[in-house]
Amino acid sequence: MELDATQVARERTIETELCIIGAGPAGLVVATQLAAAGRDVVILESGTAPDHAAAQALNEGAEVGGAYRGLATTRHRAVGGSTALWNTPTPGGVGAKYVPLDPWDLEPRWPEAPGGWPISYDDLRPFFVRAQRQCGLGPFAYDGAAWRGNGGAPALQLATGGLVPAVYQMGSRSALLAPLLASARDGTRTRLCPGSTVVQLSLEPAGATVTVANTDGAHWRVRARRVVLAGGAVENARLLLLCAASGGGVRDDSGWLGRGFMEHPRDRALTLTLSTGMDPRAIAWYDAHRAADGTTIVGRMALDGSVAGENGMLNASATLLPIVRRVRARLRSALGRAGTLRALQRWLPAGGHGWSTHPAPERVFDGFTVLLNLEQPPRRENAIVLGERRDAYDTPLPVLHWRWHPDDHAQLVRVRRTVAHALESAGFGRVTIDEGAIPDPHAHHHAGTTRMHPDARQGVVDMDGRVHGTASLFVVGASTFPTCGFANPMLTIVAMALRLADRLRDEP
Ligand SMILES: Cc1cc2nc3c(=O)[nH]c(=O)nc-3n(C[C@H](O)[C@H](O)[C@H](O)COP(=O)(O)OP(=O)(O)OC[C@H]3O[C@@H](n4cnc5c(N)ncnc54)[C@H](O)[C@@H]3O)c2cc1C
Repeated sequence: MELDATQVARERTIETELCIIGAGPAGLVVATQLAAAGRDVVILESGTAPDHAAAQALNEGAEVGGAYRGLATTRHRAVGGSTALWNTPTPGGVGAKYVPLDPWDLEPRWPEAPGGWPISYDDLRPFFVRAQRQCGLGPFAYDGAAWRGNGGAPALQLATGGLVPAVYQMGSRSALLAPLLASARDGTRTRLCPGSTVVQLSLEPAGATVTVANTDGAHWRVRARRVVLAGGAVENARLLLLCAASGGGVRDDSGWLGRGFMEHPRDRALTLTLSTGMDPRAIAWYDAHRAADGTTIVGRMALDGSVAGENGMLNASATLLPIVRRVRARLRSALGRAGTLRALQRWLPAGGHGWSTHPAPERVFDGFTVLLNLEQPPRRENAIVLGERRDAYDTPLPVLHWRWHPDDHAQLVRVRRTVAHALESAGFGRVTIDEGAIPDPHAHHHAGTTRMHPDARQGVVDMDGRVHGTASLFVVGASTFPTCGFANPMLTIVAMALRLADRLRDEP
């Protein structure tokens, strides 16, 4: 059921078995799984529709390093979390791209952050399979060989150079959220509390007390046997840093708390000009399309394991986005400004997915930008720390230290050359590289600030997501990822949330 937090009496304490902080996908998955297993769950969510702007102001923060902008614009406070900002069109409405981590993403590959994932790919795989269903996707199949294109065409093979065809699957926000929200709102075991911002955590021998601020500033508490932080990678770190600073029972023995922040920079330095006479539809498999079973996929090019795992090479994924001829782009924007002739606009695509359905793509497109979605290795220097500025509840706002390290850029240069060489060798056309280009860090995929490691001296949470040195405090979400590959995080977040729910269900 939904609880109106403004009706909870000041200073009252609510008792529950499990308290979840954050009603984004991660928190909702854990909550609904545990409620289905008969546990009483309170879900505290800062965001609330009527008080929208004030809730988003709690997401403010500062950035140091010059490259990253807008902590507030890259996440969202609401029931459903940051999915409110999703912008990928899918047949079922706005949604997201999904893809799992690659097996080699879990290996120990980065010397600055010892250890890879403390979970093997075989252990994670069943949770990926369950996550597919939870997200409303097709089968757990991401190799290009598993999918045919429009008209049954297979992926164009990349003969050489360490690139292989692969796919993203696309899923709508409602396919993910509707069942979760229905269970959270209608379930007799769940109390979903929008407008409830957690401002303090205090651990006790048999659980924890969470202090909540209402939108009117009144405080109340939740006492729970177990608490799960599901606030996203910035807020999970912020709440643990606050707890550590106030003597609430969290210690940072590893020195990693808040550190190892990762994004998925996006690089647009490669431009593909198709071979003379080549019809763009020959590579239509690399456009978004519906497969025979109804799953919407986007063909992409993946580094194969031998290259991606090699010698400091970043994992990466390449997608083709058409470059609309300049005159048509101008016409398109003029039509858009005039707000007329929407039907005509369809013949002048905006440059994203769907290009292969154009009746004459060779007349409309000048070639393709090869979009590289990149791994960022974990580094201590990229970190969330508490700043001097405070939010409306007098809580220190976060400061993000972020930079794209020169060593990582050197690896990006290798990735660019590998991809360019493979595309040219496969006969797609000529690839030019803008050597001076710097990748855009704003994929909105935050990860790594409460890294998972079995040893309390090397990480913040153990392999079950339990905060080291505590019995009752857990973290779920991409903040626990020790490394993050190139893969959009949602599928792995949901898989790990299902895994944590199983662990909590099995605890006495
Ligand atoms: C524009 C955009 C596009 C994206 N596209 C994709 C994509 O295509 N594929 C993909 O895999 N991922 C995508 N992502 C990333 C994805 O949305 C996030 O990784 C995902 O939402 C994280 O889920 P979460 O539940 O861990 O955190 P969130 O969704 O951020 O939810 C956290 C919730 O916790 C609440 N909260 C935080 N602090 C507190 C507190 N102190 N008290 C109470 N509540 C609190 C917040 O209000 C929020 O509702 C995109 C993100 C954005 C912004």
